[in-house]
Amino acid sequence: MSADDPHNVFITRETVAGDSDSETSIAGKSVAVKDNISTAGVRTTCGSEMLAEYVPPYSATVVERVLDAGADVVGKTNMDEFGMGTTTETSAFGPTENPVDPERVPGGSSGGSAAAVAAGEADLALGSDTGGSVRCPAAFCGVVGIKPTYGLVSRYGLVAYANSLEQIGPIAPTVEEAAALLDAIAGPDPNDGTTRPEGENSDYAAAADGDVDGLTVGIPTELFEGADERVVETVEAAIDDLEAQGAETVEVSLPSVEHAVQAYYVIAMSEASSNLARFDGVRYGHRAESEGNWNEAFAETREAFGAEVKRRILLGTYALSAGYHDKYYKKAQDARAWIRQDFEDAFEEVDVIASPTMPVLPFELGESLDDPLQMYLADANTTPANLANLPAISVPAGEADGLPVGLQLVGRKFDEETVIRAASAVEE
Ligand code: GLN
Repeated sequence: MSADDPHNVFITRETVAGDSDSETSIAGKSVAVKDNISTAGVRTTCGSEMLAEYVPPYSATVVERVLDAGADVVGKTNMDEFGMGTTTETSAFGPTENPVDPERVPGGSSGGSAAAVAAGEADLALGSDTGGSVRCPAAFCGVVGIKPTYGLVSRYGLVAYANSLEQIGPIAPTVEEAAALLDAIAGPDPNDGTTRPEGENSDYAAAADGDVDGLTVGIPTELFEGADERVVETVEAAIDDLEAQGAETVEVSLPSVEHAVQAYYVIAMSEASSNLARFDGVRYGHRAESEGNWNEAFAETREAFGAEVKRRILLGTYALSAGYHDKYYKKAQDARAWIRQDFEDAFEEVDVIASPTMPVLPFELGESLDDPLQMYLADANTTPANLANLPAISVPAGEADGLPVGLQLVGRKFDEETVIRAASAVEE
């Protein structure tokens, strides 16, 4: 924390100027970039001691696209270590404060990016969303965040946490601005074979027209049950407002989502345990001064990981081990298939699915750190969209007790337009 960064939003504050000849709608805007997205020549720490001095030799595709679109990168934002957290408190660089209420967390793991936008430190920001990390901090900080359909946005240059779940997504004060940033970063990338081949010239910003006349909004009871009453009331009022604008609401059932958090954590930790094996002291970042053999040097190097990261590597390795693979990993994959099917069935009847983004109001700083399970359960409403690879947005629905409440809308695969259109009506 410093005088020019009162909420500890940035890990590294450095400007990279964009193409000044560009005339896109984001030209001249400032963009804060989550610190797990590679920036050539600017250190990229992932919020970890392990990469505290790591300077990547290349930029992520999304960074190239933002610069080509004429926006300036203005810094690398604070985050939960390797994206593992819901509050930005697992960062090795200290917690970020929520600009709306500095006693509270900004959400996570892209907490620095959402706080940068909420505090006016940047016009726009990029985050990454593996299980909610764009939508959660957007909800907690009172801004807009989009998790694109899996394959819409290149992950080239994103330091991997759980590849099969995550997407880079925009954060902005309004739906239209978030959609404009999505326009800049979306589209195929030869460097990421999981990107969808078509879709070069999107115009998501134009979809933010607020027209919900005739739109069918699904209301899944499962994602309202158990949520804080103040959150539910605020979200329900926003949904009533959509009805008043001509939308129709229908109850839908997603019985599988009660298993989403469990399935998500088994899959995310399994993928993480494999992805983080590359931090061995030889190839990237921190290396322990060790007198020992390879195993000792490796173990000592990996002491640089924080407690939450170590916990996940251990649990993920366990879930993938020969004796337990069928019991945990395979079951989680079955649950994932079931969740995908539930959404497909629901989307035969409705155009979007609405719920609270987060079932709770922003935690107080320090509140959730010693209870990882409480923190994991807060991801109940966001993880289903990652497991089903669907597009989702969080848009401010109003306030409860002076704290922001986010409404989440999930859409059909690659139907970002409908999600953006509905969200823009929530703003009105
Ligand atoms: N809170 C979730 C986790 O800790 C989501 C994080 C994310 O989306 N990167 O895994």
